[in-house]
Amino acid sequence: MEPPKLDLTDEQRAEIAKEQAKWKARAPVVQPNQRLYVRALQLEKEHRQTGYRDGLAEALATQDRFTEATEVAEREDLREEYRQYAEASTSHCGCDSRDRNDLLTTHVDRIVFDGKKQVTYTRCTQCGTLMKRDPHPELKKQLQREKAAVKRHNLTMTP
Ligand SMILES: [Zn+2]
Repeated sequence: MEPPKLDLTDEQRAEIAKEQAKWKARAPVVQPNQRLYVRALQLEKEHRQTGYRDGLAEALATQDRFTEATEVAEREDLREEYRQYAEASTSHCGCDSRDRNDLLTTHVDRIVFDGKKQVTYTRCTQCGTLMKRDPHPELKKQLQREKAAVKRHNLTMTP
């Protein structure tokens, strides 16, 4: 026997969409990097027990604790990477924000969560300077548009 066909009117579809929107609104809004932060807290504990230093370093880095990560990392390349973030400048490198083709010359390098707020590291594509500061407002807008597009896409899918 075939399952009964579900014929929905536009009103019923609208009703369902409304219910789904309500359901989505109830779910707490958790940023992906906040989820990573919570996981990093667990991993920090685990790696402190097992003594896996590179794992511990990455768990600390995920919490924006790059100075500590630099100190505990065993691998030299990891130490060097974390050092760059630990020493990232909070002021702008001074290069032009746009190139001749009007393209933005900074990009988001890494976004972490420090337990209270999101911390963004951006890198200048001209001089390579790593900066601990929010991206260019235009880049921020672009990222928000991309995020909104993903959200719209997810809303069209049934829970
Ligand atoms: Zn620069």
